[in-house]
Amino acid sequence: MTGLTRRHLLAGGLLAASFGLPIPALSATAGSTPWRNWSGGLSATPAGRFAPASEAELAEFLGSTSGSLRPVGSGHSFTALVPTDGHLVVIDQLTGLLDHDSASMSATFGAGTRLGDMGEPLAQIGQAMLNLPDIDRQTLAGATATSTHGTGIGFTGLSAMVTELRLITPGGEVIDVNAQSHPDLFNAARVSLGALGVITRMTLQNRDTYRLKAKNWVQPIEEVLESFDEMAASHRHFEMFPLTHSDYALTLSIDETDEPINNPEPSAEEAAAFDQAMAMWAQTPPRDRRPLVNGLAEQIGPSEAVDVSYRILSNVRNNRFNEMEYSVPLEAGAECLREVLRTISEQEVDVVFPLEYRYVKRDDTWLGMSSGDEDHAAISIHRTASEDYRPYFDLIEPIFWKYGGRPHWGKIHSLGAAELTQLYPHFADFQALRAELDPQGRMLNDHLRKLFIG
Ligand SMILES: Cc1cc2nc3c(=O)[nH]c(=O)nc-3n(C[C@H](O)[C@H](O)[C@H](O)COP(=O)(O)OP(=O)(O)OC[C@H]3O[C@@H](n4cnc5c(N)ncnc54)[C@H](O)[C@@H]3O)c2cc1C
Repeated sequence: MTGLTRRHLLAGGLLAASFGLPIPALSATAGSTPWRNWSGGLSATPAGRFAPASEAELAEFLGSTSGSLRPVGSGHSFTALVPTDGHLVVIDQLTGLLDHDSASMSATFGAGTRLGDMGEPLAQIGQAMLNLPDIDRQTLAGATATSTHGTGIGFTGLSAMVTELRLITPGGEVIDVNAQSHPDLFNAARVSLGALGVITRMTLQNRDTYRLKAKNWVQPIEEVLESFDEMAASHRHFEMFPLTHSDYALTLSIDETDEPINNPEPSAEEAAAFDQAMAMWAQTPPRDRRPLVNGLAEQIGPSEAVDVSYRILSNVRNNRFNEMEYSVPLEAGAECLREVLRTISEQEVDVVFPLEYRYVKRDDTWLGMSSGDEDHAAISIHRTASEDYRPYFDLIEPIFWKYGGRPHWGKIHSLGAAELTQLYPHFADFQALRAELDPQGRMLNDHLRKLFIG
């Protein structure tokens, strides 16, 4: 099965191809249209949607109305950050490249721009983003609001690549925020969970354009873990996707290259072969699955792809799922992953979806997943969207807590204000700033109330 890559494994055409559900741009008076998130696990019927054509229109709206509001990006979060019976604020008209500076290699985008729509305009001005998450269908505002990250020990999450942003407060005040002008607000608003107001534009630190070479291969999990630090240090990006009920992981390194572009689409035949294999695993009881999965893993040959940076860093994920991801201090990463994998095996959890294990560099945001003095290892578990994720996630979540894990804000977790206060040194600072900017609590929904009020 040479050439079967992690793309087949995670994107594997189990369900029809589609990206995030389109969010129609309706005015505040257009009535109620149901909203659903990407996985389909969350839904709401907001009273209306406000889709401003300009920042001035948004400031006027916020300043002249009252009532609950939730900003929404492309709906790719798994947690209930967005659902509201008030108004959704949709900034899909505040998009595109607005400004750039070649000397500092920075560029300003409308915050409603999807990450996948930034690569080409940036290339035209000789710039490229430093890193990207696993997919690029998120909006810039939405991705940064939840501390979205890619992989690579040398790279922070996207929020810490933001050098300036424009925030329109719940009361309609327009504030341009950077490290010098408003240090506290800057640290809070780069990972805001949409709790401080609506962000309309962001300036990102970029670099010159570059090409990347991705290499995928299969290796025993224990071997990868033993050399993970060394591999993470010697490659620009390094991560692995441990297969459940198996001794193997799909492993990925990405490095800069001058080689010519060579990034063939995975063939339909290979994808079908993989679908077949997954279906076979799923029909086999978890306790009998290991030899089967190991047997398939041993047949997977290495593969390589070369392309411009943004086409290598992000992928297409067609099969819908729900996800839990926690980041633990780097030195606890391997033990935590081992315990998660052991628990899945011992408890015979019937899951075929691989895990994801990657490193994220520390940053100075208040609520970043990797904020503070330590780099973090991020560990993700997934469950196909049509299945109930709760028994699996409920079993694994306490393991993450045991290793001091912090939840990804956009992925399933069950923590509230009391626990979060222990995990983030600046949590109380964020709570205070939130209360100051939004004294009426108009940006709160039930989920945010649990996070910030308790
Ligand atoms: C298939 C898939 C793959 C993923 N891969 C990764 C990954 O590799 N790494 C990772 O870290 N995460 C990953 N995620 C999680 C995802 O990046 C986050 O959930 C992200 O927040 C989604 O962005 P969005 O534009 O869909 O925002 P939404 O989910 O719509 O909103 C997220 C948050 O942003 C706020 N928000 C949106 N717009 C604004 C605004 N203008 N002003 C203020 N707040 C705003 C919302 O209120 C909400 O709190 C993945 C998710 C999926 C579905």
